[in-house]
Amino acid sequence: MRKRNRREFLSASGLGLAGLFGSRSLSAAVQAATSPYRRPKLKITDVRTAEVRVHGGQVHVRVYTDQGIFGQGEATDAATGAVPLIRSFKPFLIGQDPLNVDYVFESLRTRGIFAGAQAGQYVTALSGVEIALWDLAGKALGLPVYQLLGGKVRDRIRVYCDMSTETPLNEEGQKRIQEVKDLHFTAAKTDIDDYSDPARFDKVNWTASNTEIDHMVEKVAFVRKSFDPKIDVAVDMHGRYDMTTGKRVAKEIEPFKLLWLEEPVPPENVDAMRDVRESTTTPIACGENLYLRHGFRELLEKRAADIIEPDLQKCGGLLEGRKIADMAHTYYVPVAPHCVVSPIGMMASCHACAAVPNFLILEWHWISSLALWRNFVKEGEIIENGFIPVPDRPGIGVEMNEEAARKAQVPGTPWFEPTREG
Ligand code: MG
Repeated sequence: MRKRNRREFLSASGLGLAGLFGSRSLSAAVQAATSPYRRPKLKITDVRTAEVRVHGGQVHVRVYTDQGIFGQGEATDAATGAVPLIRSFKPFLIGQDPLNVDYVFESLRTRGIFAGAQAGQYVTALSGVEIALWDLAGKALGLPVYQLLGGKVRDRIRVYCDMSTETPLNEEGQKRIQEVKDLHFTAAKTDIDDYSDPARFDKVNWTASNTEIDHMVEKVAFVRKSFDPKIDVAVDMHGRYDMTTGKRVAKEIEPFKLLWLEEPVPPENVDAMRDVRESTTTPIACGENLYLRHGFRELLEKRAADIIEPDLQKCGGLLEGRKIADMAHTYYVPVAPHCVVSPIGMMASCHACAAVPNFLILEWHWISSLALWRNFVKEGEIIENGFIPVPDRPGIGVEMNEEAARKAQVPGTPWFEPTREG
């Protein structure tokens, strides 16, 4: 007698769901209802945006579903032009299951390969959507986002304050240093590049003169001695200068034992960044202008940076940030995400940072807009003495206070109003 295979046996014995109920759709419904983790079946129904201008421009994204819940995300820096891009994602997004975050992300990314999806505005627009999907997934499943990104390895996220000042040497700069101390941050960053330095001989060429370099070193020395030695100090050159300047500055500031020197040369030539790094003991950080894992691959392979700084509201979102961090981990490179956004994007970044073993420190850039920062979400101030406790609430764990947020709305732009455009 011929042996029955497994499917035939189940069918004949009446144990197969299809056999049991005699209907494929009923079988599927039963399977869905008995899903061990009660996975809700959601469909995306709409995607809407709102634009604010605080430190640069931010685009807030909301992804709506057929069951009344929505997710919120935020994109920044390269977000100029993100709104029409997000609108262009809509025909694909409508009807998708929002819990398949990586499928949606990868589908939109690969659909855009002839539209610039390798970097820049396309990826930034996608980042805002990706973050909204994680918030949505967390809310739908009743879990904080960090739980969906692998679980947390820490309960609070160390934050550094970007001092957001032209120079620490003037009165305003010194007031700012005092503010940073009063807020009990454990690390601070200052800019040392200066487009308007009177010692510049040429307004186009970026080879710093001896006096310009002296000015940069003077700023570093002043900030370093203004803080207790236990407070870390980082400095930024904003990827403006040439190789000779980058190397000279990195060498001259070695005695100050900085947390890092950021973008001493432009980021697009990885070999140049590596040459600066190899010339100095000052740790070199970069990455805020790189996109996706692909953008970080060469940087890591060539050992061009001591610390990487992906901007999660720009480089691909939370899971892409985790993937970038995991790549860096194999090179023993820590991750210090660049971050210039509202408490919504900041808290979203915190969930990724909570899940990443090689996380170092997260940027905070709203000290110049403290009142708005403290009212932007219903939860109020989220930073406690230089750390953000990671919330256990479902999703990102903060909700926009619309009345406060609208104070920074870009005039003439929609505020989550529905649009007809596909
Ligand atoms: Mg920077």
